[in-house]
Amino acid sequence: MAGFNDYLKFARHLFIKENTLPLYLVFFITERCVAQCKHCLLGEKRTGLTELTIAEIEKISQSLGRILFLLPTGGEPFLREDIAEIVSIFYRNNKTANVGIPTNGFFTERIVSAVENILQGCPDLDLAIDVSFDGVGEKHDIIRNVPGLFEKASTTYRELADLKKHYPKLNLNVGVTVSRYNQDHLEELYHYLTRTLGVITINHLLVRGNPADKDSIGVDPNKYEAFSKLLENGAKNQTLVGYHNYAFSDFVNAVRIVRQEVINNITRTDKQQLPCYAGSLGGVLLSNGDLYPCELLDKKIGNLREVDYDFKKLWFSARNHEIKAWIKESGCHCTYECFLTLSVFFTPTSFQHVLRQYMSLKYNRLLKKC
Ligand code: SF4
Ligand code: SF4
Repeated sequence: MAGFNDYLKFARHLFIKENTLPLYLVFFITERCVAQCKHCLLGEKRTGLTELTIAEIEKISQSLGRILFLLPTGGEPFLREDIAEIVSIFYRNNKTANVGIPTNGFFTERIVSAVENILQGCPDLDLAIDVSFDGVGEKHDIIRNVPGLFEKASTTYRELADLKKHYPKLNLNVGVTVSRYNQDHLEELYHYLTRTLGVITINHLLVRGNPADKDSIGVDPNKYEAFSKLLENGAKNQTLVGYHNYAFSDFVNAVRIVRQEVINNITRTDKQQLPCYAGSLGGVLLSNGDLYPCELLDKKIGNLREVDYDFKKLWFSARNHEIKAWIKESGCHCTYECFLTLSVFFTPTSFQHVLRQYMSLKYNRLLKKC
């Protein structure tokens, strides 16, 4: 995992208002997918243009500084046959320490083989794979519009769990997208995941933005919070031991608990709770080279193909400066978990709260040992 000094370096950049390159990059490496999920956000962001090639990605990566966290996403990221090569470019050029890849789990063989290639090519990398589950059995298949996907995703999870026995740097997670279509079945899903599949980390995402099926949004806050509480209790009672391979697993879980409180407050008040660092500490690259502060805002910074793949040229441009000012002045807010992690970590008031939660988790762990 990244060293604490790295975080301090980024914090210094941020707090003294120096220009900083992103430490967190969400990279939509492809738009292609076999599923048609009701909650999919890609709809409006689909560019229909050619994906960046390996040679183009190499140039972009060389123009970047250190990227601590990379999220290659999509579409279904494992549809890119060169996914292991993409990760290794960032590992090599940008000293990327953590990579998280979501997958719908459809292509078991291809996924397991690519994950093993990544682990072998990047031996010091903390790699997290999040297999998506939104319901048990047919409920999952209906939400994702792929018959048989639930069984395939379960098989993929099991095979990755076998692989994990040989690769301690692999963290295997489940991602649950909470929408109006599954809000009444989340407890059933939790029990399937923890009791039948043996899942030890569940990341839940609240449907947001402009999903393919608009009826996905409007989740009952009480049901969402009840599921969040179930996950928090799972972390506290050690059912969900979280990123247990990480040196700072309690710390990661503490950040997640505080982030959840922030999200609950946002859903309840519909107001910004913490500053957003999209466009400074976090950025989003689409598969055709379009660069955004985040994929939810319809505010493109530019396209990397048009600036000879020079990331800094766009990142430090007047256009991005303008967008960042807008984000700040408008009090822009949303429940985007990844970007809220940055907000929680790099805002002094919430960071203090993280430290308190961390102490509490440590204390619980000690009590459990006694
Ligand atoms: S949410 Fe993911 S898996 Fe579902 S259709 Fe969209 S890109 Fe594909
Ligand atoms: S608050 Fe949300 S929508 Fe606004 S800039 Fe940040 S991540 Fe994007």
